[in-house]
Amino acid sequence: MKATRRGFLKFSFLSSVVGALTGVSKSVVAANKRNKPIVVSTWEHGLAANAAAWKILNNQGRALDAVEKGVRVPEADPDVRTVGLGGYPDSDGNVTLDACIMDENMNCGAVAFLQDIKHPISVARKVMEETPHVMLVGSGAKKFALEQGFTSENLLTEQSKKDWSEWKKLGQQKKQINIENHDTIGMLALDNAGNLSGACTTSGAAFKLPGRVGDSPIIGAGLYVDNEVGAATATGMGELMMKTVGCHLVVELMRQGASPQEACQKAVQRIATRLDNFAEFQVGFLALNKAGEYGAYCIQPGFNYAVRDTSGEHLFDGENLLGASK
Ligand code: ASP
Repeated sequence: MKATRRGFLKFSFLSSVVGALTGVSKSVVAANKRNKPIVVSTWEHGLAANAAAWKILNNQGRALDAVEKGVRVPEADPDVRTVGLGGYPDSDGNVTLDACIMDENMNCGAVAFLQDIKHPISVARKVMEETPHVMLVGSGAKKFALEQGFTSENLLTEQSKKDWSEWKKLGQQKKQINIENHDTIGMLALDNAGNLSGACTTSGAAFKLPGRVGDSPIIGAGLYVDNEVGAATATGMGELMMKTVGCHLVVELMRQGASPQEACQKAVQRIATRLDNFAEFQVGFLALNKAGEYGAYCIQPGFNYAVRDTSGEHLFDGENLLGASK
C-alpha cells in the first residue's frame, strides 16, 4: 500500500486554482475529471472493505451493491471491535448494532438496537427494499431479520466479554468516544454509471447505556446521499452529529459549491462553534462528490480513511481542527 497524499493535495490545489481563475466551481472542474469508479471509507479497516467493494465497482457493478458488500467485511471480522461480530457490548454486556444504507434514488433503510444478527447492513437494505418504512428497531428489527432468512447468533466474543468484565471491575468508568474506542465504518461509492450510494454500520459507543442509539443509523446524521451532489458519512461521538445533522449539512455545503474537504471542515467548525464540550470528543466526516472528488476532516488527530480508485488503494490521515496530523 502506498499513500499518495501529495498527489491528492496537488489535485485539490489545481482544482481550486483553476476554479478561482475561471470562476467555475470546483465540483464542476472535478466533474470533468470523472474520477470513477471510486470507494472511500472510514478508518484503516476500510482498506479491506474497499477491496471487497472494488470488485463490484470495477466490474461495472452498482454502488449500492458495492457499499453493502464492502461493509460486510468488518461486520464479520471479530477483530474490528465496534462493528458487527465482536463489537464492544453495552453496559449490560449486550452487543447492539446500528446501521443504515442509502442509494442514488433517495431510498434508504436502517436498523437500530438490533441484536444477534451479524450483518445489520443487509437487514437495513431489506428494510429499504422490502418494506414501506425507513427504520426498524430492537425486537421488531430482529423479528423482521429472522423472517427475511437471517440467522440469530451470539455476537459477544470471548474477547469482548473479557473487556466488558474488565471495564466493570474498573468501576464502570464512563468511557467516552476517543481515538481508541470507536471505529464505525462509513462507506461511500460512485459507480461507473455515475451513481452514488452509502452505508454505515456500528456497534456504537463502547459500554453505552442500554438502549442508546447513535448517529450511524440516522439518515442525515451518520450518512447522507444526494445523487445530484455527493455523499457524506461520519464516525466518532454520534451525539454531536445528531445535534447538527452533520452528514446532511456536509452534502448541503457541497451543493453550495464547497469541495468535499471544505464541506467536512465547515461541518466540524459548526460543531466547534455550537457545542461547548466538542474538544472532549472525536468526530470525523468523510465526503465524496458526484465527480469522484473526496475529502475528510475531524476534530482530533487520529482519524484516517481509505480510498480505492483506478490509481490504487490509499490510506490518508484526516485533516483536523485541534492538532497536527499523525
Ligand atoms: N458514531 C458511532 C456512534 O456514536 C460511534 C463510532 O463512530 O464508532 O454510535
